[in-house]
Amino acid sequence: MNILVINAGSSSLKYQLFDMETQEIRAKGLCERIGIDGKFTYKPQVEGKQTIDAADVPMPTHNEAIQAVLKALVDENNGVLKSMDEIDAVGHRVLHGGQKFSESVLIDEKVIAAIEECIPLGPLHNPANLMGIHACAEVMPKVPQVAVFDTAFHQTMPKSSYVYAIPYEFYEKYGVRRYGFHGTSHRYVSAKAIELLGGKAEGTKVITCHLGNGSSLAAVKDGKCFDTSMGLTPLEGVPMGTRSGSMDPAIVEFIANNEKLTASETLTMLNKKSGVLGISGVSSDFRDLDDAAAKGNERAQLALDIFSYSVKKYIGSYVAAMGGVDAIVFTAGLGENSAEMRASISSGLEYLGIEIDAEKNSKRGTVDITGKNSKVKVFVIPTNEELVIAMDTQAIVSKL
Ligand code: AMP
Repeated sequence: MNILVINAGSSSLKYQLFDMETQEIRAKGLCERIGIDGKFTYKPQVEGKQTIDAADVPMPTHNEAIQAVLKALVDENNGVLKSMDEIDAVGHRVLHGGQKFSESVLIDEKVIAAIEECIPLGPLHNPANLMGIHACAEVMPKVPQVAVFDTAFHQTMPKSSYVYAIPYEFYEKYGVRRYGFHGTSHRYVSAKAIELLGGKAEGTKVITCHLGNGSSLAAVKDGKCFDTSMGLTPLEGVPMGTRSGSMDPAIVEFIANNEKLTASETLTMLNKKSGVLGISGVSSDFRDLDDAAAKGNERAQLALDIFSYSVKKYIGSYVAAMGGVDAIVFTAGLGENSAEMRASISSGLEYLGIEIDAEKNSKRGTVDITGKNSKVKVFVIPTNEELVIAMDTQAIVSKL
């Protein structure tokens, strides 16, 4: 079975074609600047086939972008498929499923309407995700499509984890509550951790740290999400590449008044110019911060310290919330690759029984980095959100 995984943004579309027999990627790439001047990348993962990296590819809408993807996939010389009929299903990443979706679903008119209803909760992403869905439906009308939601895994949280301490009517009227994101990643790595712990979800307490450009943590009890750090939107939680994370909400009005900004401009500042970029003034990329800090840049070091301190505080609070922890998982760009950040976050947690082994911590891939005296397991588990989308899609379309 071949499954095309699509992650559509407002002017971009990432794609990966999976062969589900091997779970390997046959081709992947990116359509960028859709509706502007169109940039197209195609990277076949098969020997002897050529990569395409082309500018000025006319893609006025997502439809032309999907057509360009299909054309490349079935190209006589560099394609990896003989014909479009070999695509058995399409899996879409959808940002916000609100309270309507607690798992992945086959897309039909009702599902499309429900994703539309969630647009106020995900105003930047859901319309783009829908464009991807509509484009595939038009270009491949017979191919089943599945929606996989970033919020779905977190729908098991108890009310005490997701209701905000503001007038309850805003939850009832508008659905203002914690939803959480990166759900596909937290689900995947927590399930892998449970496998490593012996395979029985019941009774396990796992804290998953998805640390990348966007970062979030989840407390996973009995294999189900119990709490997570992101909120109504991905802005809440730990500081990120460019997002502030949690802070005193009164800061919004204070800065808006002093800088003569609208609420929306202030939020853009909190989403795009804050986090470790805002603190350091150097970069949102942790590798640049490491380099700058090594050269003595104090604000770059401060940004790294604040990030690590914040993740550490969330870990401590989730240990308290779940009444213990069996395993901590590090994943995503920073969590998988930065031994220094893992060491910094874990340091000082020995009193909770959490210790990592310096030598094991320097290894790559899926590794158990638990220290000799640690009561809690610490794992690095590479995440693979696209593969989870492909696996969910396969599971759903296999039942048709
Ligand atoms: P992601 O959003 O999961 O793709 O993660 C991207 C983030 O991971 C970027 O901020 C990178 O700086 C960070 N990252 C990737 N590799 C490393 C590394 N070796 N050391 C530090 N940060 C890294």
